Amino acid sequence: MRWYRKLHWQILLGLFSGLVYGVLAAANGWGLFTEHWVAPFGTIFINSLQLIAVPLVLASLVTGVASLSDLKKLSRIGGKTIAIYLATTAVAVTIGLVFVNVLRPGDQIPEGVRAELQATYAGDVTAGAAAAGELAQRGPLQTLVDIVPANFFGAASSNQNMLQVVFVALFLGVGLIQVPAKTAKPLLDVFEGMSAVVIRLVDLIMLIAPIGVFALIANTITTVAGDDLGRVVDLLGALGFYCLVVVLGLAAHIGVTYVVLLKVFSPMKIKTFFAGIAPAQLVAFSTSSSGATLPVTMERCEEKLGVSEEVSSFVLPLGATVNMDGTALYQAVAAVFISQALGMSLSLGQQVTIVLTAVLASVGTAAVPGAGIIMLVIILEAIGVPIAGIALVLGVDRILDMLRSATNVTGDAAVATIVAASENQLRMPDLSEKADHIRVKR
Ligand code: ASP
Repeated sequence: MRWYRKLHWQILLGLFSGLVYGVLAAANGWGLFTEHWVAPFGTIFINSLQLIAVPLVLASLVTGVASLSDLKKLSRIGGKTIAIYLATTAVAVTIGLVFVNVLRPGDQIPEGVRAELQATYAGDVTAGAAAAGELAQRGPLQTLVDIVPANFFGAASSNQNMLQVVFVALFLGVGLIQVPAKTAKPLLDVFEGMSAVVIRLVDLIMLIAPIGVFALIANTITTVAGDDLGRVVDLLGALGFYCLVVVLGLAAHIGVTYVVLLKVFSPMKIKTFFAGIAPAQLVAFSTSSSGATLPVTMERCEEKLGVSEEVSSFVLPLGATVNMDGTALYQAVAAVFISQALGMSLSLGQQVTIVLTAVLASVGTAAVPGAGIIMLVIILEAIGVPIAGIALVLGVDRILDMLRSATNVTGDAAVATIVAASENQLRMPDLSEKADHIRVKR
């Protein structure tokens, strides 16, 4: 197959053209035109992905569970998955802490820049703090309560309730095992059909991915720059080193932690893994949402990495909601950066507190754009750093959000591969690339 027919090259092309157009638009004041005539294509792309996320998770998980004859296996896979998710997130935070403590980007911020950033973003900080404050007020078991919905349609009505949908699907799957096979069959057939169709719909949606990505990137640039490109350049000048530290940390986590885990615990070739997952990384980068990317992650893991549906339908929706290594690493770097910039030194105890709170905060972070910075408030409060300091990092948050979302998705896929390998449920992937294109099987 010619290289340019491969999906990730097409998406990359969309991304770079979106970047070029976005810079031109911001430089020439085409912000309103972009908002009205370009951005909607990005929204259509994200909406169509979100539209199929709930049916996909529900159908594939119900079928996956119903095909398991013993529930012990389900709890074994569940326990393993959660343990690996938490461990990799703790490693991510530690990597972030090492980089930010060694490179000390906060020491480079001049007093004048600090005051200016704080004045510019003070209003946004108050809004974010209020949201995080509400979260912090919740009882310790509230997260558990939130997993069990009182009404199925309520759960399915918002993509932010994905964990509730996972719960309903598991429950339904268990119910299906309990009734005689003959009685379960009609319902099971419906879910099997739905799961197969929805996976094909992901292929269809991905046909417009290059255009969607173009529009999303262009719109992000014009929104952040607000018809004034100089502002972004200034911000990057002041916060460039901080951004670099986050980028280095994320790259180390992807390039070392995941690579070592994949090499040790799975037969997966690293090149196959990254080539397979690249479109999902690019969609996560463009949408800044690992939740919206979930259908693409699932499709790529099943079709390109050879992860069984049984594993992917359980591990990936769970991962999209609770496993956010990129977010946790970013939160740790941001918290220490802010304290450095404010001239506060952190003790070892405070750094350990960051590891614990960042792991928990990332679990509680919603898989939507900008959620990570809201949860940063909780970490700052835990280590006694003034939350007004968030103003220092708000200006470049969107850029880092794109990168951390791509990392989050990579982590979910790596863990799905490892869990599948450990369960003997990793078949050799289809390397022919023909699955990039719609297959009409009739
Ligand atoms: N946008 C991220 C995600 O969806 C969450 C965050 O803000 O860190 O994965």
